[in-house]
Amino acid sequence: MLETREGGCHCGRVRFRAGVDLERLSHCSCSICTKKGILLLSTDLADFELLRGRSALKAYTFGTGVAQHTFCSHCGMHAFYIPRSQPHRVTVNARCLDDIDAASLKPTRFFDGRHWEDAQSRRIAETGQAPPPGAHGAKTLQAILAQASE
Ligand SMILES: [Zn+2]
Repeated sequence: MLETREGGCHCGRVRFRAGVDLERLSHCSCSICTKKGILLLSTDLADFELLRGRSALKAYTFGTGVAQHTFCSHCGMHAFYIPRSQPHRVTVNARCLDDIDAASLKPTRFFDGRHWEDAQSRRIAETGQAPPPGAHGAKTLQAILAQASE
């Protein structure tokens, strides 16, 4: 069930509002998701709003540079990011939603990011949702930052 939730980083400089479906919670085996311990909720760009944090956000990139691993430069928390697999969308860190009971979070989906090419092919075959041509995480992030008031 799609619901509108707010969340943010630890210090409060980064705040967002997003349409998320907790029944579609996912986890990923890639190198950075493993280290973060992030639980993933994919949301449409149109359903995501950065309420504040434009100046606090920094983006870490590696490999292809498509994914934008945004984090708060003050507290270090990764509240959301732009994934390589769907660089036209936003992934929210379910653990950063307000009033979330982390112990109740049970992923129902899995992306085998450790074997990214295979996992992406499988995901596209199963969902029929390939990223649009030219999609890049940096463009998506730019759009998010541009619409934020602070
Ligand atoms: Zn912060």
